[in-house]
Amino acid sequence: MQNTRLIDGFGRQITYVRLSVTDRCDFRCVYCMDEEMTFLPRQHILSLEELYRLGRVLVSLGVSKIRLTGGEPLIRQNIVWLVQKLAALEGLKELTLTTNGSQLARLAQPLKDAGLSRINISLDSLQPERFKQITRTGQLSEVLAGIKAAQQAGFKHIKLNCVMMRGRNDDEILDIVNFARQQQLDLAFIEEMPLGVITEHERAQTFISNDDIRQQISVVYPLLAATDVTGGPARYYRMSDSNSRIGFISPHSHNFCDTCNRVRVTVEGRLLLCLGNEHSADLKVPLRDFVDDDQPLIDTLFKALPLKPERHHFDLAQEPQIVRFMNMTGG
Ligand code: SAM
Ligand code: SF4
Repeated sequence: MQNTRLIDGFGRQITYVRLSVTDRCDFRCVYCMDEEMTFLPRQHILSLEELYRLGRVLVSLGVSKIRLTGGEPLIRQNIVWLVQKLAALEGLKELTLTTNGSQLARLAQPLKDAGLSRINISLDSLQPERFKQITRTGQLSEVLAGIKAAQQAGFKHIKLNCVMMRGRNDDEILDIVNFARQQQLDLAFIEEMPLGVITEHERAQTFISNDDIRQQISVVYPLLAATDVTGGPARYYRMSDSNSRIGFISPHSHNFCDTCNRVRVTVEGRLLLCLGNEHSADLKVPLRDFVDDDQPLIDTLFKALPLKPERHHFDLAQEPQIVRFMNMTGG
């Protein structure tokens, strides 16, 4: 009998897919992109119909969580259509989105109505000038309005994602924690990863470990390890006097590979088995060459599974091994 579940060579079942819906973005965050970026021509990227079909097939193979990401997913035209179609798939338990928040004031309610389960919003600074420096083109006020709109639309467990860089925004650790507490939001600190060659700073010099950040927060708010397991790379903590959870995503300091249940799909339809290396499979060919037959796509997915490595190896001291930028892999 043919396998119906995506299980890799180390017995890990793939239940979580991060789907990049665009490589484009209205921001140019210094750790993610260069100021001048060349984006993919339209015919190279999967159509919304192809993204939906891929989602449908993945869910039929046991995937229960899909996160839409990018680039900035909310600048993809008709993204609400895709959300509506995916959310209606039987077997999909969670459909989530990672966004920079710039379009949320306009889209939070339509996304909620379309069936989106949860939202993560990136926020690296609460100072307008600095926010602009880090994102190069972003407006803090728009993102704050977006956070408010998401709350008003009724999204629960909204999570802020924050990349801390030593000497750039690490003096705001407590300000951002306090903002999350006031707004009753969860917050995750993400260690900067060496994806793509950037010019603005030396990643090894701006690197600040999550252990360091956790230490600083603990002085003011003692952190208690949360017992709920998220299945992701984040370790979560609670504060005794707040509903907000504080998470730490630490690809450098802690290894989360053993329980890795996820894969990524780039907007070109490249299945990436691991964020930390280049093993991939082309899903665009079976999607485009066999429009009415899912089997070649399913065969390609199963054939790719043994490529998932046991673990990744990031090293900030070396030139990036991964030449693609984060906007290609979808965070
Ligand atoms: N544009 C959306 C956003 O910013 O939330 C979604 C895509 S973005 C690539 C997803 C997440 O990856 C963001 O939280 C961003 O801060 C993070 N990110 C981007 N480049 C990174 C890097 N080199 N290291 C660590 N996190 C990074
Ligand atoms: Fe755009 Fe997100 Fe990358 Fe910032 S982190 S440049 S918002 S894709």
